[in-house]
Amino acid sequence: MSGWIPTGGGLRDEDWARRHRLLTALLAACVLALTGFGALGTGLDQSWLISVLLILPCVVAAVVLPPRRLPSIFVALGFTIACGGFVAMTEGLTESHFTFFIAVAALALYRDWAPFGVFLIFTTLHHAVFGAVVSHRTYDHDSAYAHPLLWAVLHGVAVLFAAAFQVVAWRLTEAEERRAQESLDDSQAQLSLAFDETPTPMAMLAPDGRLLRTNAAYRKWLSLPDDPAGLAVPDLPLRAVDGDNLTLFAQLTEAIEPVVVTRQFRRATDGALSWVEIHSTALRDPQGRLRLLFVHCIDVTRAREHEAELRHQVRHDSLTGVLSRSAFEHDLAALLAERPEPVCVLYLDVDRFKSINDGAGHTCGDEVLRALAARIARCVPGDALVARIGGDEFVVALPAPLDTGIRIGQAVLAAVAEPLTVADGRLQLAASVGLAVAAGAGQAEQGVLAADTAMYAAKRAGGNRLEVFNDRMRVSVQDRILAEARLRQALDGDRDATLPVWFQPIVSAADGRILGAEALVRMCTPDGEILAPGHFIAAAEETGLVVPLGEHVLISALRHLLLWQDELGYVSVNVSPRQLSEPGFVPMLAGLLARVPALAPHRLVLEITETALLGTSVDLQERLSAVKALGVRIALDDFGTGYSSLTWLQSVPADVVKLDRSFVAGLAGDVRKSSIISAVLWLARSLGMTAVAEGVEAEADRQALRHADCPAIQGYLFSRPLPAPEFDAMLRRRTVLAAV
Ligand code: C2E
Ligand code: MG
Ligand code: MG
Repeated sequence: MSGWIPTGGGLRDEDWARRHRLLTALLAACVLALTGFGALGTGLDQSWLISVLLILPCVVAAVVLPPRRLPSIFVALGFTIACGGFVAMTEGLTESHFTFFIAVAALALYRDWAPFGVFLIFTTLHHAVFGAVVSHRTYDHDSAYAHPLLWAVLHGVAVLFAAAFQVVAWRLTEAEERRAQESLDDSQAQLSLAFDETPTPMAMLAPDGRLLRTNAAYRKWLSLPDDPAGLAVPDLPLRAVDGDNLTLFAQLTEAIEPVVVTRQFRRATDGALSWVEIHSTALRDPQGRLRLLFVHCIDVTRAREHEAELRHQVRHDSLTGVLSRSAFEHDLAALLAERPEPVCVLYLDVDRFKSINDGAGHTCGDEVLRALAARIARCVPGDALVARIGGDEFVVALPAPLDTGIRIGQAVLAAVAEPLTVADGRLQLAASVGLAVAAGAGQAEQGVLAADTAMYAAKRAGGNRLEVFNDRMRVSVQDRILAEARLRQALDGDRDATLPVWFQPIVSAADGRILGAEALVRMCTPDGEILAPGHFIAAAEETGLVVPLGEHVLISALRHLLLWQDELGYVSVNVSPRQLSEPGFVPMLAGLLARVPALAPHRLVLEITETALLGTSVDLQERLSAVKALGVRIALDDFGTGYSSLTWLQSVPADVVKLDRSFVAGLAGDVRKSSIISAVLWLARSLGMTAVAEGVEAEADRQALRHADCPAIQGYLFSRPLPAPEFDAMLRRRTVLAAV
């Protein structure tokens, strides 16, 4: 039963107060209404006076008494009096009883049993007492005059019914409110659970920066007490590194839309740095004023570190720690784009790195590269870019003019040349460095290419030096492109006609007998021009066309040797490093020799140059041993032009040393030269080698060489390189002469 009855009193204080003010005002208005009614109609009689005098204290009590029961009871009492008074003033007019129903409806606003009950009781009492005592002022019909009590009950029941429906409405409202409250509680509980239990640190902040509510993850993250109320943004143990907490908070509160900011913070306790991603949403009232700021904070330090590590890995060479090729290209392009001043690009390639790597092992090679990177980095200013862009190739970009670039390049060369102690002992390194100046956006690639070309020139000049890129090199690049096209054409044609092999005799220094000949290739262009190898060998080497070209020269040389086998001791053929490093070189050579079984393999000599071998990538020692195993002899060509010839003499299993022309020319008048020649000849002899002096043009030099006991000489003094038919003729003439 109790479930059917509303509990009442459920209004919130402010709602109750608002309704009470309204009903009190209505009650006060009743005084005015009764007065107006009396003055205009029935007259301000005794009933009016009593009513007004009784209502006014009720109004006063309703205003002054403390909430909530008592003042509402006085309002109910006041309404009973006002209705009763009105009935009396109209002498019991039936329609004036309507006011009781109005009052019931009005008092239902309190949703409280007390004023409601008081009104019902007093209304019934009024009808009973006044109906019996002054029935003419209570009712307006005879039946009621005769049975006032009956009519009092009748009126009471009617009012009761009106009240009952109000109660029903009131009960229904309460039920709806309860249901709404329950579902609100439910969703609030869900939200609280989600907020409190989520592992992401979350907080709600008041507009002044105070913490209103925090979840457990937030408190744990910041080591805050269980109830951090009262703490504000400046008190938090994490301080924004860039700016301060309050500025950051202000920035978040100003945002209209939800924002995400990532900031670095320093922990107040131990100074540790961490990156935090803050997702913030500002809650505003309809006027746009900030109500609260909701933030959730994700510590992204690990992700950032990981990201930075990855970026570092991508941008850096894992072996040496300097920049990677791609990072260098990117940074150089950016550097050139942002400054109009020139940038020097240094391209460095370690001389004969391959032999260090193969000879001393890869671990040692790695150690060398690391040491080199450190030495280079030591020589360059802090704003320079240093990268490793290939096995033993480093590149440096210096935001500096040419003279500074040269100075630093020389310093790098000197640093590289310092003896290096590695696990297996001491190493003496050298490098070839190319320098080019780049300026302006979009010139990065050109700059590196030019420095590479200059490096190549340094390598050709014997290594261990710095070459600055010049326009001649640019021209030579174009020349090489032209030469390549010509060479391809020549190789596609009848090779004996397009690429004839000429022969230059190598003669005995003592008596001028022809001992052998050097095969020197020429190119016949379609317009009949004859080109020396200087015009196309470099292009052949760079493009790899030297492989078929070299094979052609070998075939031609062997064929001619077979032809002259009774007159000519041996033929000497130049082999480029590119050719020698081809995996198929030794099998190819073996195949060619197998085709001429009549020729002893030692009658073939392969000439290799030291300078050209600086850049080779195969194990030279191993390859030369394989060549020697075939019985073929090896000559060190251009001896004396390289910077470490003597070392080389001992490490290469050569049979012949060919003293370079620069060494030989003017020998007769140069004591220093002749003593060097004597020393080299002595060393060669002691190592079991024979020697050939190249480029002998003067008789005096020949004499000097003869006195120095140089066994063989080659040079214009005897003959220039000749086409095969002319060489053949010379050979026969000489043989005939010798026979005479
Ligand atoms: P190299 O092997 O040192 O050949 C000797 C060069 O010196 C030849 O030049 C020859 O003509 C020149 N020469 C000989 N005697 C004298 C002299 O008394 N005075 C002067 N000024 N020069 C003299 P060439 O034929 O122009 O060849 C140049 C270089 O080209 C050769 O130098 C060799 O390294 C290379 N080469 C020639 N033929 C071939 C080949 O078939 N294959 C390869 N890979 N390289 C070749
Ligand atoms: Mg040669
Ligand atoms: Mg030579």
